[in-house]
Amino acid sequence: TKYVLVSGGVISGIGKGVIASSLGVLLKSIGLRVTAIKIDPYLNSDAGLLGPLEHGECFVLDDGGEVDLDLGNYERYLNIALTKDNNITLGKMFQLVLDRERKGDYLGKTVQIVPHLTDFIQDWIQRVAQIPVDSTRERPDVCIIELGGTVGDIESAPLIEALRCLRWRVGEKNFLHCHVSLVPVINTEQKTKPTQAAIRDVRSVGLSPDIIACRCSEPLKQPTTDKIAMYCQVDPAQVIAVHDVPSTYHVPLLLESQGLIPILKNVLHLDNLPDPSLIE
Ligand code: ADP
Repeated sequence: TKYVLVSGGVISGIGKGVIASSLGVLLKSIGLRVTAIKIDPYLNSDAGLLGPLEHGECFVLDDGGEVDLDLGNYERYLNIALTKDNNITLGKMFQLVLDRERKGDYLGKTVQIVPHLTDFIQDWIQRVAQIPVDSTRERPDVCIIELGGTVGDIESAPLIEALRCLRWRVGEKNFLHCHVSLVPVINTEQKTKPTQAAIRDVRSVGLSPDIIACRCSEPLKQPTTDKIAMYCQVDPAQVIAVHDVPSTYHVPLLLESQGLIPILKNVLHLDNLPDPSLIE
């Protein structure tokens, strides 16, 4: 199984879920079976009791799971049916590790965030990534992992550490990281400083994004892309612009038009692809 991590910097609510779903659409278009996991850094066990004014309505899955509404995005974009295990919250992970501790599963060991909680999260992701989600009932090839919140928050630290370790566990060839950032327009100037700071933050926790997706109200100008590439030390091809579009269903096309499919194939070493006509 291959993994695509989508994380966010600067501020939340800038379209990380839409970009994660759209990456899934591109992977599906080249013949892969795609599943998705949403990770939320709050302590609630699920989204069932969250106020809708703050988080939007919770989304109810076929198995009755009350989850983050991004799972609805995944189901609609990818035509799949997810389970409540596809939504991880930090609270749910803590609770399950503490239940184990009470049962004596750790046999006298000191139970710690690293490695016990972080290993538990990685095991969970690897198990859930194997669950069939489309009508073929076959195992998915790729799992999109969307990390809620922004990198640098105190609450997401254990989750980021788990994902950093997962990258090593599954191998570089099986892991792609896309970091979503914001390029604000101030007095007609596209500002790159928030993106530079966001990339510095994500690198300081041991992750190095393969793709920097820049959300901007208008199309990114070439000098802006070049500046981000230079200051963040990446190839300009790795800087992807996602400007405001009338319908978020246009975002997959926006990504495709910037050459993202060859990048996905290259980073994830997708050489022997299945015939797309065999996929549902
Ligand atoms: P996040 O996952 O970062 O919280 P979402 O993906 O849920 O953000 O998107 C937040 C809001 O922004 C949604 O209402 C979504 O429809 C809108 N949005 C996301 N991407 C775009 C885009 N490229 N153009 C216009 N609106 C967008």
